[in-house]
Amino acid sequence: MMPHTIGFQYRGPELFCEDVPVSVIAQEVGTPCYLYSYAGLEAPFRAYDQALAGLPHLICFSAKANANLAVLRTFVNLGGGVDVVSYGELYRARQAGAEPRKIVYAGVGKTDWEIAQALNEDILLFNAESPQELRRIDEVAGRVGRRARVALRVNPDVDPRTHPYIATGMKQSKFGIDIRRALEEYHLAAQLPHLEVIGVDCHIGSQLTELDPFLEAFGKVRELIKLVRDEGITIEYLDVGGGLGIRYLDEAPPRPEEYGEAVRGLVEGLGCTLILEPGRSLVGSAGVLLTRVLYTKETEAKSFVIVDAAMNDLLRPTLYGAHHEIVPVRKGRRETKVVSVVGPVCESGDFNARPRAAEVMVREERFAVVRSRETYEDLVRGEALPSFLQ
Ligand SMILES: *Cc1c(COP(=O)(O)O)cnc(C)c1O
Repeated sequence: MMPHTIGFQYRGPELFCEDVPVSVIAQEVGTPCYLYSYAGLEAPFRAYDQALAGLPHLICFSAKANANLAVLRTFVNLGGGVDVVSYGELYRARQAGAEPRKIVYAGVGKTDWEIAQALNEDILLFNAESPQELRRIDEVAGRVGRRARVALRVNPDVDPRTHPYIATGMKQSKFGIDIRRALEEYHLAAQLPHLEVIGVDCHIGSQLTELDPFLEAFGKVRELIKLVRDEGITIEYLDVGGGLGIRYLDEAPPRPEEYGEAVRGLVEGLGCTLILEPGRSLVGSAGVLLTRVLYTKETEAKSFVIVDAAMNDLLRPTLYGAHHEIVPVRKGRRETKVVSVVGPVCESGDFNARPRAAEVMVREERFAVVRSRETYEDLVRGEALPSFLQ
């Protein structure tokens, strides 16, 4: 079995990504590397898209889930836009060919320079995260001679029942504008001369495995839209954020189809263009980290398998206590035993000079390196020895 992925399967003892044996990629590209299945990216995108067929909608892939240009281009080619939270991500989205009018920009810490850049690129909208930010966007827009299209990111105070680090829509969170103050802020925003208020945005967290928190949040947002419209403010866009979870172990998250159906039910009749910002659920099941066993080591207490990928290549277990299945590229007939799979990094210091891993995308029987492995020159690029050390 090849658990919880799309595009990977065993043929006999050999693990394949689509029609390419994974061992061939290990040989030709080396390890560690990240390996993505094109089909695994395409399937969930189409599932969301089809669930919303007939409703005006835009699926903006959340770039932070995987900002590789080839991954971004995959979604751009399927008609998607991009959700960015920094100018770096915006730059990547443009390099990948995303249309500016399909880019939405959230994030609590947009700088003046980033706001100006995004205005000059004429992106679809800013998701503003605070009253101060609204004023700042207005100021910068005035300075560069443009009008900024904005949505207010509201915080609906809903518990998404996920890991606290990725819960973003509770009242303790740094994200969004308290939904109870939102009406007031809409008033203010509508009066700012360089803003065009066009939407509402809400993103409550990541790796949500139930629909209820979404429904609770969207219910509150629906109420708000009515109130805002009653004041004569136009709401053209409803951005429902991302957050649908995937399966790592035994979670049973709703599928994109089911989520899409639920959203459709909520927004039907609202007369808004719907924006979705899925990240994890578009890419998380479509990739693996390919690593090679360097050593095995037996101690009195434990058996270790030491591999060439480290916590800098796969941070989630360290950061979130996350579970990731480990499977062999070629199944053997050895007995099973419980081991600790560990990487080479000296964790406590974390001064690890490790070049970043390569990235590979597979489409049917073809594959391509979509990011080269970093070299040791890359590792020190931009660094300099000051004259007082020479
Ligand atoms: C992270 C994030 C998303 C995507 O969340 P997923 O859980 O990856 O779907 C969407 N919108 C914003 C603003 C985010 O920060």
